[in-house]
Amino acid sequence: MSPTFAFDSSSQRFRYTSGARNGEYVSQAKIKDIVDREYIRSQKAVLGAIGDRLISGELELADWEVEVSQALKTLHINSYTLGKGGIERLTPRDYGTIGAKVKREYAYLRNFTNDVATGEMSIAQFQNRLSMYADTAFSTYQQARVISHRSDGFEWYRNIRNASESCSECISISAQGWQQVGTLVAIGARKCKGGDRCNWEFAKGDKPEETNRFITDFYAGWIGGLALEQEEEREPIS
Ligand SMILES: [Zn+2]
Repeated sequence: MSPTFAFDSSSQRFRYTSGARNGEYVSQAKIKDIVDREYIRSQKAVLGAIGDRLISGELELADWEVEVSQALKTLHINSYTLGKGGIERLTPRDYGTIGAKVKREYAYLRNFTNDVATGEMSIAQFQNRLSMYADTAFSTYQQARVISHRSDGFEWYRNIRNASESCSECISISAQGWQQVGTLVAIGARKCKGGDRCNWEFAKGDKPEETNRFITDFYAGWIGGLALEQEEEREPIS
């Protein structure tokens, strides 16, 4: 049985509430992994399957659009909810934020549908573009994290790069170090768009000291990978 989690708002982190690691914090790397490598990846497969049904002729274009829009709505709600720390923490304002995001995705989807209708797209291009819709849910997750931390008193954040995706904008934003929450360009709104897999790190109280910039910039991805490997052996934080 997989372990259960609960959200702790003062630390803005999930804890295991069952299993061998009951009471321990779930590492940030682990949560990011659940969102990106498990959840978003699984939803790419869901979208791909809906796409296959259009290709095979099982679905009409209009029905395909409805099914994709429903899948996208679920995807963004769940990604946001994970970033905010659970469904019971969602406020009417959060639902408004999710609604605005989903509405934008619907508009992009409408353009996609129109492009499919004109037929100037290979099957590979079609499936590739469809798959990219799932990627944008990562930015929804990160948006929710920003909103959640800010509402619980975290004033500072900094961008932590994923070494495998380092567009010039992510590099320069990371180089700015600690900044006031809400002042940096959002993850997913930069040059690398939906492919952005940076992470936010947050802090409370006084503005934190800058750590060694060389280490942060050159080894962030490597250290991130190492942290993930060591995660299984880490001692409880409290
Ligand atoms: Zn980037």
